[in-house]
Amino acid sequence: SVPILTIDGPSGSGKGTIARRVADQLGWHLLDSGALYRLVAYSAGRRGLDPADQAAHERVAEQLDVRFGLAPDGGEQIWLEGEEVSKAIRTEQVGEGASRVGAMPGVRAALLERQRAFARAPGLVADGRDMGTVVFPSATLKIYLTASAEERARRRYNQLKDKGLDANLAALSLDIAERDRRDASRPIAPLKPADDALIVDSTSMTIDAVLARVLELAAA
Ligand code: C5P
Repeated sequence: SVPILTIDGPSGSGKGTIARRVADQLGWHLLDSGALYRLVAYSAGRRGLDPADQAAHERVAEQLDVRFGLAPDGGEQIWLEGEEVSKAIRTEQVGEGASRVGAMPGVRAALLERQRAFARAPGLVADGRDMGTVVFPSATLKIYLTASAEERARRRYNQLKDKGLDANLAALSLDIAERDRRDASRPIAPLKPADDALIVDSTSMTIDAVLARVLELAAA
């Protein structure tokens, strides 16, 4: 079977960056599962769906017409119904929406097989909240990447600034704390390390040090 490395953890832990770089280094496929939840939220918003209508959100998740690709400069491209949305889905507002649709059991069920289909040779790096606990329970290696809430807010702030997006550190800290609470306390797929996950706390580590550590674990 195809080797799978799962990287789960809270927002701002560095998961996204690490998952992409590990996938690059190993030459493996990448699943950015958060993007799928963001795409559902974004598409639902554009359709003007009632935020409380779970069945309608489930249909959006089932019918999601999405294509992942790479720009000539190596940057990510995400096409939703023919529209390039890689930047549009990275806003805090869409992240909030993703966290709300992620609490809908029907949406999670609708995305399950779509996520599993990413597991193709030579291997997969899967980034998310429930990759090791729900989507790929028998993954080869499970990493739970975390960092203090303050450090995660600071990283998110810098990330948004780099992308030329508007950001406010105090507001981000509150949002991150709130999203952590919701992701950890929801009845379905709550954010928690898998029993067999290795915990990596990146609070005082550079990205390169985390990358080296994860690659070392993957080679072991
Ligand atoms: O990782 P990212 O910030 O893109 O995820 C956005 C939101 O999507 C998370 O806050 C979480 O609520 C939800 N999510 C999820 N399960 C995943 C990935 C993301 O519920 N596997």
